[in-house]
Amino acid sequence: MLVYMKRERAAKIISTLGPSSTSPEVIARLFEAGADVFRLNFSHGTHEEHKERYDTIRKIEAEYDRPIGIIADLQGPKIRVGNFVTEKIELVNDAKFTLDSDQDTDGDENRVAISNPEIYPTLEPGIELLLDDGKLKLVVEQNNGDSVDTKVLVGGMLSNHKGINIPGAILPMSALTEKDRHDLQFALDIGVDWIALSFVQRPDDVAEARRLITGRAGVLVKMEKPLAIEHLKQILELSDAIMVARGDLGVEAPPEDVPGLQKKIIRRARSEGKPVIVATQMLESMITSPTPTRAEASDVATAVFDGADAVMLSAETAAGDFPVEAVSIMDRIIRSAEQDDHYKLSNVRERRQTWGTDADAITAAAKQVAQTLDAAAIVTFTTTGSTTLRAARERPSVPILGLTPDIRTARRLVLTWGVHPVETSHFTEFADVVNSAIEVAAKEEFATPGQRLIITAGVPFGTPGATNVLRIVWLD
Ligand code: PGA
Ligand code: MN
Repeated sequence: MLVYMKRERAAKIISTLGPSSTSPEVIARLFEAGADVFRLNFSHGTHEEHKERYDTIRKIEAEYDRPIGIIADLQGPKIRVGNFVTEKIELVNDAKFTLDSDQDTDGDENRVAISNPEIYPTLEPGIELLLDDGKLKLVVEQNNGDSVDTKVLVGGMLSNHKGINIPGAILPMSALTEKDRHDLQFALDIGVDWIALSFVQRPDDVAEARRLITGRAGVLVKMEKPLAIEHLKQILELSDAIMVARGDLGVEAPPEDVPGLQKKIIRRARSEGKPVIVATQMLESMITSPTPTRAEASDVATAVFDGADAVMLSAETAAGDFPVEAVSIMDRIIRSAEQDDHYKLSNVRERRQTWGTDADAITAAAKQVAQTLDAAAIVTFTTTGSTTLRAARERPSVPILGLTPDIRTARRLVLTWGVHPVETSHFTEFADVVNSAIEVAAKEEFATPGQRLIITAGVPFGTPGATNVLRIVWLD
């Protein structure tokens, strides 16, 4: 079977795999429906299950001869309450409740242990703790060193292992727990393309992960702590891509602040030319329904109008009843948005400030030339991906073919707006790149005879970011 899987859209789709999407048949259908990148969520499932899904994806990749991106999403330092004698308890407003370090004794209406007692020193009186995705709220009244006494501000039922979010404190925890380190090693060994870091607080967290990953995968930082947003600039510098992780971000920050934060993160990431993903609850109602709400359709379209590189499905494809339908509807919403008049008026095509390097001058010119000549595509030749990322940063009106001799670069580039990555041979001559560009563009139906291609590359090859050639070629 060789059907060229050419997407008729620039924004990409990430699909999270889980119990609803484990069989090779379902994963293949998700890919056919439009999933460009798959997320393995290490908060759930065993290594064996992730490896099985990984192998299935690579088989589909070979079968369709299209690179597919795979993200390993690490759980990160999520703090949780321990067990309760009765499995769940009720906390009533104004009641006193103590969080302590006695992991061996199950909790009750008065107290419970938490998973990370090392955070106690930072919990000063007045700091608020949010439990179970923000449904319950406690405020610290007294800090006893290895426990804190709190008062219940918003009560409700609390059951075993529910998560705790503490937006107001910088927690003395690394972004990588023991479990994360173990999962990271495993994910790198099987060969994932991206490592997603959860609950990053400081630029140092990203630097530490980078040291462990050593270029074997791209570093994708999930923005889900308001404190991390204060360091957005430095965090972006250390990341290869970034995610607006609205699920936890909307617990840590007031939900009404999330839309503005989403736009801010997208704008900053686009200005740096790094891929940015909008995630969580995009088609939430499709977990149990075959059609989305109008508000959800509008949410996906908004991310597209903002110029996000990718939109993500979580429970919709991991645990929902309609995983394939969710991808297929997301694909339709993106295509419709990208064809809408508003898209041209939106800031997607807004000029980025051109950086003062040869590479950026050439890249900006490529977009201009492609538009003036109504070219069929911009073709970039890249080893590390940097030339292609630069081209995508310009958000041109034509597709970007990302030719690369490195399959790992091709797989990573799938996440990027407008990029159709293709693995090629190793070239040493620019003329070979030109021939390859023509061949690929014709074969994969990006251009027909008589149309032009705009080719950019850095000559001699192999120096990242040294884009210095722009060539116009005709297909005959
Ligand atoms: P999660 O991250 O799905 O791993 O929680 C995304 C989010 O918080 O939005
Ligand atoms: Mn999260």
